[in-house]
Parts: sequence; C-alpha cells; structure tokens
Amino acid sequence: MRVPFLDLMAQYRAYQGELDQAMRQVFESCAFAGGPFVDKFEGEFARFCECDWAVGVGSGTEALRLTLHTLGVGPGDEVITVPNSFIATAEAISWCGAKPVFVDVRPDTYTLDPDRLEAAISARTKALIPVHLFGQTADMDPIAAVAAAHDLIVIEDACQAHGARYQGRRAGSLGWAGCFSFYPGKNLGAYGEAGAVTTNDANLAERLRLLRDHGQSQRYRHQLVGCNSRMDGLQAAVLTVKLRYLESSNQARSRVAQLYNRLLTQVPGVSTPQQGEYRDHIHHVYAIRTPNRDGLARHLLDHGIGCGIHYPVPIHLQPAYLDLGLGEGSFPVAERCAREFLSLPIYPELTEDQVNIVVRHIAEFVSGQADHLPVNPMSGDGHNEA
Ligand SMILES: *Cc1c(COP(=O)(O)O)cnc(C)c1O
Repeated sequence: MRVPFLDLMAQYRAYQGELDQAMRQVFESCAFAGGPFVDKFEGEFARFCECDWAVGVGSGTEALRLTLHTLGVGPGDEVITVPNSFIATAEAISWCGAKPVFVDVRPDTYTLDPDRLEAAISARTKALIPVHLFGQTADMDPIAAVAAAHDLIVIEDACQAHGARYQGRRAGSLGWAGCFSFYPGKNLGAYGEAGAVTTNDANLAERLRLLRDHGQSQRYRHQLVGCNSRMDGLQAAVLTVKLRYLESSNQARSRVAQLYNRLLTQVPGVSTPQQGEYRDHIHHVYAIRTPNRDGLARHLLDHGIGCGIHYPVPIHLQPAYLDLGLGEGSFPVAERCAREFLSLPIYPELTEDQVNIVVRHIAEFVSGQADHLPVNPMSGDGHNEA
C-alpha cells in the first residue's frame, strides 16, 4: 500500500460540495481581484486569529515583505530571524534591502533560541521575525521581553501555524503583525497562491491595504508607491469554506502526530518532535530526526511511502546567501537539523492503518542497519509527548 506525503485530493473530496458552490458564487459575481469575498474572509480570519484585522495579500512571502516595508525597513538595516526556515523569511528581508541576521534554534523545539537573541542585536537591528516552525510557535514571551528592552518590533512568521496557540493566545496575535501563507499544502491552503497579515494595529492594516493595491485609496488616486499583491476572490471563497474546518482538521493532524509519537517510541535511533510548554502544536510537518536520514528516506520512497526534508540546506548555506560569509559551523543546531530531519506523511485524512505502515517501514529499515546505532545526543532526546 502506498502512502502519499500529502493528499490534497482527499481534502477536496471531503468538502467538494461546499467548495464547488463557493467557487461558482465567485464566477457568477465576477468578483475576482479583491472584493466582497476577500472582505468576508479577512473578517473571519481575523476573528479566528483573535486579532482586530486581517489583510489578504498575494502570498506569505508578500505578507512578510509588505509588513517589513510598512515598518520602513531598508538598506543599512538588519532583521533577525532563524536559518532553519523556508527561504522566504530571509528573502522578504533582502527584498527590502536589509540584511538578514540569523540566530540558531533550540535543539528541542527547533524554534528561535531566546538565549542567543541578545548577542545578535546591533544598532542596526530593526525587527525580529521568529518562525513558528512545523506548526509550533516560537517561545514568544522571552523573545518579546528582549525585543521590548531594545525597542524592536516583532513580526511572526506564522506561515506554518494557522490556529497554533502560545500561552493560550493564537499565532498571529503574538507580535505586532502575523504573516500567514495559504499555499495549497499549508494547514489552511488555497487553490492557488494567497497570504494574509494579522494585526491589532489599525494603522498597519490601513497601510497594507494601500500597499497591496498600488497605493490607491480611490481608483487612480495613489497615496504611496505600492504594488499588486491583492488576494483573489476565488482564493478567498475557498479559504472561507476551509476555515470552518481548520480547527477539526488541526485536531485530526494532532491525533496522527500522537499516534506516530507512540509507535515510534519503540524504534531506536529515531527522535520524535517535542512540544514546548504552553504551546498548542498544529502539526503542519511531522519531522523526525535520525542519523542515517538519507538511507531511511530512500528506503521509504522505495516502498511507496512519501517523505520530505524541511529543509535540506539551511538558509545561510544556500548559494543565494553566500555573500553573507557565514560558513558551515555558524549555526550548529540548524545545520544538524538539516542533516537529520525527515518529514513523514501527515494530513487530516491520513488513516491509522497508513500510519502503521509508515512506522513498520521505518522499523524495518532501522533493524536492518548495523548492529550498533549511533547515539543521538542533541537534545533531551526523545520521546516525550507520547
Ligand atoms: C510557506 C512559507 C512561507 C512563504 O509563503 P508563500 O505563500 O509560499 O509565499 C514563508 N515562511 C514559511 C515559514 C513558510 O512555511
């Protein structure tokens, strides 16, 4: 039996009637670029994130870039983030003309290590972008304390955290702005490209609404130099339907993650993800760590089990960022993650049988390996959150 890494068709089938009807409504009103479907989604998504405002934009990358631009971030400025993210976090900083400065992550939760933050701050630092990796928020309280002491703005990269909570508060409401992606594979995914910024700052929301639409307050009256990063009506209509099921689909992912955790406890040489205190994880990605990652990935793929690597090369070692001059060894935890992470199939419709098959193939590979397995001392190692 094959187990795909992701099954977007299963989700479409689950809500097909409602999705088809929502899309037909957009066709019949021809409200394709911005418009009432976008307004409706923005209101509902803001409520979901427990924020005053949500502004729909073209993508998660644009959400980050426009938010930084609104802050006036530009050449000569530095913005702090982590090296183990999707490259878009750093790209948004670079496209504003600023320099990304990286801080290594914690070995247990793989999110920004607050203890290393202070050392990365300089007179040029303008903002911090902690990344809520794999569906779990960064440890926001200590990050906010350091930011406040240095008068720095905190922008959440919440592109993998739709519905996650920290100390009971929703991702997207934890900083000055929360940047979301609705790329199809995310926990809340569009049928194309889309993103949003959440905030309680009415002024930021207003500026973003101008920027995403060529800086115009009325048609052909341009208050500032903007761009075209409008959300499209079809995506908004699809997202409005899927938002109703986000909470329950996050819970279904959580059940899958707990089953993996339980079953993988019995498999030596495999570290399961750990959940930080006070954090509600929404399990966008289920990444294990294992020393012979490439061998295991090949074994799984050979047996029809989809898997992925998030991410095989940390941002500071990408050719695009060689000019930062940060070599191997700069961020040991992130670099080790890149060598050892393997993401297993996880989505709401994944069945218990499928999870059992994935784990069986992992156990089979591990038992077929050399008799002594390398020890794996990176973190408190292991298998909590069972
Ligand atoms: C997906 C993602 C982005 C970019 O979102 P797009 O909608 O693809 O532009 C940014 N940051 C992180 C952490 C992501 O996972």
